[in-house]
Amino acid sequence: MTTRSELDRKFIAAVERLGRALRVARQAVATNHKISLLQLQLLERLADGTPRRVGELANEIDVTQPTASDALSVLIKKGFVERHPDETDRRASVLALTTSGQKLAETITADLAPLLTDNRDSSDEDQATALRVTLEEIGRLQQNGVITINRSCLTCQHYRPPDKTSAAHCELLNEQLQPADLRVDCPDHTKTRH
Ligand code: SF4
Repeated sequence: MTTRSELDRKFIAAVERLGRALRVARQAVATNHKISLLQLQLLERLADGTPRRVGELANEIDVTQPTASDALSVLIKKGFVERHPDETDRRASVLALTTSGQKLAETITADLAPLLTDNRDSSDEDQATALRVTLEEIGRLQQNGVITINRSCLTCQHYRPPDKTSAAHCELLNEQLQPADLRVDCPDHTKTRH
């Protein structure tokens, strides 16, 4: 009989294995486009159209600011990223994708699409439960200081968990949140106060 602690270890081992497999696939796509895996991650982050400072990008992908800065310098040289003055502080600058950067980000998304093929055996309900449990684990790792940025529903001030009478709810968007609706990286996320 598997104990709870064994189950927890197996869960983490399985997530790690999945992470390694995805990393291999993403590295292959990055190499194909003659960029590093870190540069690919930066392009993906900026593809949402929100310009960010170097420090914000570094926190989002859990690397140091100098590491992110070096990778961004290469992307700027290659013409995929450009600097703009930060409208909230003219002494600072933010980074955004150029038109070629946007095109490359779209190609990368298309290249990675086969990883999402709809051929799984699990039910929608199982998949949604897996999503919720994984987000709980990510929240736990953030609480323990392992990661810095986590913009998922379960760590958001606007999230109201389910109770006996109602489903989970987003107070900001005034929407019900079934497990499948939980967001992994929400632009409206507001960190919970502790
Ligand atoms: S604002 Fe976004 S992250 Fe927060 S609860 Fe609503 S949908 Fe989830």
